[in-house]
Amino acid sequence: MQNTAPTGTPISVVGHEFDVNRPKRLRWIPWREAVLLDFKSMIAWNAGDHSFTFRGGHNRISGKRSSITVSSIIAVKGRSRYTGSGNLVPPLSNRELFLRDGQICLYCGKQLPEHMLTRDHIRPLSEGGKDRWRNVVTACKPCNHAKGARSPEQANMTLLAVPFEPNRAEYLFLSNRRILADQMEFLKKRFRNGSRLGVQT
Ligand SMILES: [Zn+2]
Repeated sequence: MQNTAPTGTPISVVGHEFDVNRPKRLRWIPWREAVLLDFKSMIAWNAGDHSFTFRGGHNRISGKRSSITVSSIIAVKGRSRYTGSGNLVPPLSNRELFLRDGQICLYCGKQLPEHMLTRDHIRPLSEGGKDRWRNVVTACKPCNHAKGARSPEQANMTLLAVPFEPNRAEYLFLSNRRILADQMEFLKKRFRNGSRLGVQT
């Protein structure tokens, strides 16, 4: 089946029994998977403003070309393997961490390109600190070096913001650079109250 949608553009999916309070059910899926879901009649409803048509081969008898149209936001039927279970913690990676902090060093406030930033453990790993969202911040190399294996208090350095663990919608926002306007609106409604994410974009 040929893909006529912009390559790499994702779709966000919610569980069929969608509940605003359970944003963990959201995720990006490849277009191909969305097409497959539609083919299997697994799409409960469409919520996106955008739709894309994928064209397949010609029917040997009718000569008609098959096509499937999928929306930029879809809900999948049932409690499938897509919905996951438990309280999922988004995976921690430097790219999403730096984006969470607006690519700003949370010690000196400088906004820098990704390659000039580092992951700082507020409570150092050597002191029993964990490699988790709430214990890590974006830091420039000089600040990270100056802080060393000390806590901010010990190093007499002040954090400019409180690190947080992104919820599912926030993580989906952080993990994708090409979000369609309707998907952005959909995700924003599910950000934590007072979230600073997406303000600058
Ligand atoms: Zn700095």
